[in-house]
Amino acid sequence: MTARRSDCLFCGIVAGDVPANVVRRDEQSMAFRDINPQAPTHILLIPLAHHTDASALAAEDPHQLADLVTAAAELAESEGIAGSGYRLVFNTGHDAGQSVPHAHLHLLGGRTMAWPPG
Ligand code: AMP
Repeated sequence: MTARRSDCLFCGIVAGDVPANVVRRDEQSMAFRDINPQAPTHILLIPLAHHTDASALAAEDPHQLADLVTAAAELAESEGIAGSGYRLVFNTGHDAGQSVPHAHLHLLGGRTMAWPPG
């Protein structure tokens, strides 16, 4: 497991130092509502351990990456959006707009979404 980074916002949420609207947590991951939601359902799923982005998580803990997708699908069910559809997004790096360098999976749903994304 990668150690907590003291300067990482999402490590602060994992530790309970930063408040969050937590909807799910287990030994390896947690999920909380995005503070600036872009859809009626907008939840972030993160590994508890610090990994910089999705590709780092895939290299360092591929099972955890798969587990995040499974957890997102379960949350889509409990949020009532599994039938209507949803979008899973890993923003990675500057051009994609990644603003927090701790791997996080966006679960977005509850409205029709455009493609390609802006
Ligand atoms: P990204 O831009 O892909 O790095 O996504 C980071 C997300 O974290 C953005 O959608 C932010 O709105 C969200 N965010 C930032 N701070 C918090 C926080 N304290 N609690 C919940 N979501 C947050």
